[in-house]
Amino acid sequence: MNEAGIEARGTTPLQPELDRIAQIKDQRGLLNEVARLHKFQVDAFFGFSPLPDPQNAAMNIANLDQAGLGLPEKDFYFRTDKKSEEIRQKYVAHIAKMFTLLGATPADAAQKATAVMAIETGLAKASLDVTARRDPQSLIHSLSKQELAALSPHFNFDEYFVQVQSPEFSKLNVAVPDFMKQVSVFAAGQSLADLRDYLSWRYLSASARMLPKAFFDENFDFFGRTLTGALEQKPRWKRCVARTDDELGEALGRKFVEKTFGAEGKQRTLDMVHEIEHEMAVDIEALTWMSPATKKEAQVKLQAVANKIGYPDQWRDYSTVKIDAGDFFGNWYRANEFESHRQTVKIAKAVDRNEWGMTPPTVNAYYDPTQNNINFPAGILQPPFFSNQSGDPANYGAIGAVIGHELTHGFDDEGRQYDAKGNLKDWWQKSDADEFVKLSECFVNEYGGFSPVTGVELNGKLTLGENAADNGGIRLAYLALLDDLTKKSVVVSTKVDGYTEDQQFFLGFAQAWCENQRPEVCTPLCSD
Ligand SMILES: [Zn+2]
Repeated sequence: MNEAGIEARGTTPLQPELDRIAQIKDQRGLLNEVARLHKFQVDAFFGFSPLPDPQNAAMNIANLDQAGLGLPEKDFYFRTDKKSEEIRQKYVAHIAKMFTLLGATPADAAQKATAVMAIETGLAKASLDVTARRDPQSLIHSLSKQELAALSPHFNFDEYFVQVQSPEFSKLNVAVPDFMKQVSVFAAGQSLADLRDYLSWRYLSASARMLPKAFFDENFDFFGRTLTGALEQKPRWKRCVARTDDELGEALGRKFVEKTFGAEGKQRTLDMVHEIEHEMAVDIEALTWMSPATKKEAQVKLQAVANKIGYPDQWRDYSTVKIDAGDFFGNWYRANEFESHRQTVKIAKAVDRNEWGMTPPTVNAYYDPTQNNINFPAGILQPPFFSNQSGDPANYGAIGAVIGHELTHGFDDEGRQYDAKGNLKDWWQKSDADEFVKLSECFVNEYGGFSPVTGVELNGKLTLGENAADNGGIRLAYLALLDDLTKKSVVVSTKVDGYTEDQQFFLGFAQAWCENQRPEVCTPLCSD
C-alpha cells in the first residue's frame, strides 16, 4: 500500500536484470537468461514444468510447452478482422510506450516494439491453437533428451535443465514439438539485439504491476481497458489482496478459512456432493445409447472420484520466503522464485494428491482429470453459491449445479479420455465413443450458433467441455433436488416466499451466475 515508497524507488529494482539482459552476447548467454527469468516465473519463449505422466498419473515427468506470448493466445496474432488488427496495433503501441517510460527515445522504443512483435508472432505461428489443445492426445510426445537436442539443436536444453536446477530425468514430454524447433530457429537466426529486446519486454511486462504508477496505468490501459473493456482499476487494497492471494495463497487462505468457513458448511457441501454423485450413477445406468461394458467402466471412474472441500489438509510452508514490508517488487520475485522451485522439484517424484490447484479464497472450482478429483475452495462455498441461511432449492441451483458441473467434466470430450486413476487411457467401447462424438455435435452446433456480441460467435468446439458440464451440472442438481423433496414429502409446487421449489432452484442458479461484463471480454478464452 506504500505507493509513495514505490514511486521513490522508480525503476531501480528492474535495473540489475535489465543490465544482465543487455550483456547477452551469444546463445549461451541467451540460454542462461531464459533460465533465470523462468526461475522468477517470467514467461519467455517456452514453459518448463512438471506434468503427471499420461501413462502413469501417479508420477510427475518433465514437460516443455509453448509460451512466451503477450497477447492472450495464438489467434490474436493472426485474425484479420478490423477489431483484431486494432488490438495488435494497440499492443505494439503499448510495448513502445512501456519502453519509452523506461527511458528509450520514441524512435528506439518503436523499433524495439516491432522486434518484439515479430518474435511473438513467430512463436504464435509455431503454437497450437486453443481448440487443438483441448485434445490431450495432441499434447503428448515422449522424447529422450537426445531427440530433443535433435529437434532444437541451437538451444542447449541439457544446459538449461541444469540452470533451472531440474531433478534428473532421461525422457520428457514435449507438448508441441514444432514450437521447440522454432525456439531453436530464433536462437540461431534472430539478431541478438532483437532477442534482448524480447527478453527485456517479457521482464518489464511481468514487472509492470510492481512499478510506479505510470507503468501500472499503462499496463492497465492495454490489458484492462483494451482487452477486457474495464473502465477503471480496482481499489488498491483489493489489488494488494489479489496479489497476496497469487503469491502466498495458502498463508492468506488459512486466515480466510478461519474467518469464513465452518464445519457445518463443509458437511452440508459434502452431503450434496454425495447426492449428486448418486444422481450421476443413476443417470449413467439409464443411458439408452451406452453399452453395459462402457457403463461399467464409467461407474468405476465415478466411484473413484475424490472430493476435496474447502482447503488443504496440510498448509504450504512459506517460511523460506523472505517478506520485507518495504520491498513490494522484491517480495513478488522472491515468492515467484519459491513457487518456481516448488514446481521444478516435483519432476520425477510422486504426484501429491493432497495439493490444491486453487487457493482457499478462490470463487471457482475445478475437476482435475489427471487425479480424477473435484475441488471446491472455501471461496465458492459462500453466497451467492451457498448459504446456511438459504433454502435447499436455492443451494441446489447454485452450488449444486457447480458440483454437477465439475463432476460432468470427468466425462466431457476431454475428461472422458482419462481413466479412474487419471491415466490417459481409452476405456470406451468403440461404438459408444462414436455415439458420444455424434451426440456431442449437437452441443457444438447449438453453442456455435450463439453470438453474445455482434460479430463474435462462440466456438462450439472450443467451449464443448464447459457447455457439456453446464448442462450436465444443472440436470444432476435438479434431479438431486427432486429426490430430496420426495424424501421430505414436499411437492415441487409448494411456494416459499412466493416462489415454488423449482422456481427457487432456477433463481438460485441465475443469481450465482449474473455478473457484469463488457463486450470487449468476449474472446474465446476458457474458464474452469
Ligand atoms: Zn468447467
